[in-house]
Amino acid sequence: MTSARSPQHKHIVLTSHPGNFGHKPLAIQWGHPDRDERGPVVATLGNKSHRNAIGTHSGGYAVYRALAIASGSLERDHRADLTNTSPTVAIGPHPSWGMPDKIVSLDPFGALDHDSFADLRAQGYDIRPSIAITKAHINIPELQEAVTQGRVKVDGKIMNQRGELLVTKAAVEPVWYLPGIAQRFGVLESDLRRTLFEQTGGMFPELVTRPDLQVFLPPIGGLTVYILGDMEAIADPNRPLAVRIHDECNGSDVFGSDICTCRPYLVHGIEVALQTAQAGGAGVIIYARKEGRALGEVTKFLVYNARKRQEGGDRADTYFTRTECVAGVQDMRFQELMPDVMHWLGISRIDHFVSMSNLKYDAVVQSGIEIVERISIPDELIPADAQVEMNAKKAAGYFTPGKVPDEADLSRTIGRQYGEIE
Ligand SMILES: [Zn+2]
Repeated sequence: MTSARSPQHKHIVLTSHPGNFGHKPLAIQWGHPDRDERGPVVATLGNKSHRNAIGTHSGGYAVYRALAIASGSLERDHRADLTNTSPTVAIGPHPSWGMPDKIVSLDPFGALDHDSFADLRAQGYDIRPSIAITKAHINIPELQEAVTQGRVKVDGKIMNQRGELLVTKAAVEPVWYLPGIAQRFGVLESDLRRTLFEQTGGMFPELVTRPDLQVFLPPIGGLTVYILGDMEAIADPNRPLAVRIHDECNGSDVFGSDICTCRPYLVHGIEVALQTAQAGGAGVIIYARKEGRALGEVTKFLVYNARKRQEGGDRADTYFTRTECVAGVQDMRFQELMPDVMHWLGISRIDHFVSMSNLKYDAVVQSGIEIVERISIPDELIPADAQVEMNAKKAAGYFTPGKVPDEADLSRTIGRQYGEIE
């Protein structure tokens, strides 16, 4: 049977072909402090000659958009109606937005309000937001105990009578300025482009054919920022600020798996953020979609099996080795890019940094942000089976106010075997 939904185009038009992407696309002066001078990132597919960036919006969800068009449920030329979608609060601009090397992995001007690039939009340019800012009430059940024990209070402003937190939240898509990304990692931009092209199976040919296009929207997850307290306090060095940067761990964050400390530490970070907001400052939780140290959940579960089944059981002294056997590396989160979101928020000092990671600490400090105090996870919040991870990380350089485990401690730290039910 011939489908009535056959593709509109009879032949494939590569984006690297002259005629796609304009010969002179709108300039992007990355790092220019003025929004209009900086110029918009145009990554929509409606009018290809307007495009001035490689890739497209929505990260990996672009593939679902392709399915929606292929199956006929979405019009190829659908144009978003952005009525009433502008941010509920303004973030920035901050001085860091005008420093080309401070922010290279997101578009600081990505949240569009009604007058952003209004002239160009009126001329037909389909300029889409890569950042959306809204408000929400969130309910964290564990915080009820903090209320009962008096560590936080119902104030009717940040926490309501039902114990819900009133937050501002921002969803941020990745937007990469390729020369800045290459510089951050100390590699040649041409090598970076070629490797990105090859390792995505040749998905974006213009990475190698159009060196004049410097902005790339990669098909990866972005991040979400949750803000508690007064927005103005975030960039005000006279008021306290708490920050937790949390990398996604669906198994613990959502499903309560006890093999790691992710959800308990996240909740502790939210509690510290709330306390700091209630003390007249602000609290910021940054949630990055980097599942399983950005190795993905399939790799993560393979590593769990390798850890639990190895001779001698799941031990802290072989914690990183098992990940390296499966993945080839211990970690692919590349915290070098992580501070960008903090510079987008205008952060210059963090009073309470709720993280023990030396990689995160080093990245934040090296980016020019002062960290006053590091807050480790309280011992009573560490699940028994997560001691393997905790001790392995402390021995590898994680911050701890207590004793750094030695070789003997590591070999003694053994997790639950498969089949054990306690
Ligand atoms: Zn976890």
